[in-house]
Amino acid sequence: MSSDNKLAGRKLWIPRMTYAGARLMAAVFRSTGIDADVTPESDDRTLELGGLYSSGEECYPEKVTLGDFMRIVHDENFDPDATAFFMPTAEGPCRFGQYAPYLRQVLDEQGYPQVPIVSPTSKNSYDGLGDGSPNMIRFLWRGLVASDIARKMLLKTRPYELQGGSADEAFERTLGLVEEVLETPDLTPREHMDRLVETLVRSRDLFRGVPARYTRNRPLIGVVGEIFCRLNTFSNSDAVRKIEAHGGEAWLSDVTEWVWYTNWSQKALLRREGKTFSLSMLGAVVKNAVQRRDEEKLLGPFAEDFVGYEEPHDVYEQVLRPGWPYLPADGALGEMALSIGKSCYLHGKGADGIIDISPFSCMNGIVSEAVYHALARDYDEMPIRNFYFDATSSSMDRDLDIFMELALGYQKRKRTQRRYPAYFEA
Ligand code: SF4
Repeated sequence: MSSDNKLAGRKLWIPRMTYAGARLMAAVFRSTGIDADVTPESDDRTLELGGLYSSGEECYPEKVTLGDFMRIVHDENFDPDATAFFMPTAEGPCRFGQYAPYLRQVLDEQGYPQVPIVSPTSKNSYDGLGDGSPNMIRFLWRGLVASDIARKMLLKTRPYELQGGSADEAFERTLGLVEEVLETPDLTPREHMDRLVETLVRSRDLFRGVPARYTRNRPLIGVVGEIFCRLNTFSNSDAVRKIEAHGGEAWLSDVTEWVWYTNWSQKALLRREGKTFSLSMLGAVVKNAVQRRDEEKLLGPFAEDFVGYEEPHDVYEQVLRPGWPYLPADGALGEMALSIGKSCYLHGKGADGIIDISPFSCMNGIVSEAVYHALARDYDEMPIRNFYFDATSSSMDRDLDIFMELALGYQKRKRTQRRYPAYFEA
């Protein structure tokens, strides 16, 4: 990442790939004196401007993120000398790597070469994020983990709530509380962690306080797929709420999964380059260990709530390896390998079906779809269905009726049962 001097006097806009993640990330930036905020909620104007500044060949997440940035550029109060955009990039067989350069091109063409783009890369597992402050990458990681925890609590509570909106309220209050910690400047890593854990205990109790009836008959639907489209509710027309409205409970693949994957990729690349015993490898191993320890501490208060909802603790052993016979992760890079492997993992957690959410024309969804039938055959014919999204979709409501019937049928005959937290009805 570029130095924070470049950001002095500017607002850094963070795209809302996930609403919670972007909010908490912005809070961490604020703790270092950077005026950061989340791009406003996407709407029709997003698609209009996203379409205007793209050729139609780009993938849907590009249209949405570009459209959201261009809404800011088109705002009557836009000041190019007081604006910066955050757009990470990635290596691999994916158009995401072109988002930041393309945004640069559009801004330059519009006469705004002075607007900086902050663009850390997956090549070094986003290590460049640490340039702003010595603890920034660690605190960003903690914010990311906290946002995933908050979303997981939301999704496991909301389908069972007795009063519509109570789980969402607990979620919003959680984000507000965690933001307060994350935006506090000058905390030592220990103070930061202590305050975060204290806050997450409050958040856990908020969710536990949601009036709910936890019954065991709701089908559990694993949601995998392209990271932006599955997590960005605007892009997927709020697919998770639709699953809930159709009687299901969603287990949505989170963002930290991607970070564990990039950590694994970084080490695999170093090994391929003959750097198994190198300072770079040592750095990668230490970072992984520190992140794992932080995650375990933040998850600590949720041990009882996440019984049966445990995420994989070894992305290679529990996700990539089971998926290897279908898509070897040393050749099929990126989310397709994660979607396949996570489907295997979720089968083992007693899921009743898998939904893969991807943008139209995205290679990840297309490749995954091609191998799901083999996976389903080997995994007890668990129902798996791809849903594709673009600005004009979707037929999801209609198709979900059929899918949920299949999931209910599978639920009755499945061989791997779910584990439930103690507060579920017997
Ligand atoms: S994964 Fe697909 S939709 Fe996402 S950025 Fe890459 S090409 Fe585009």
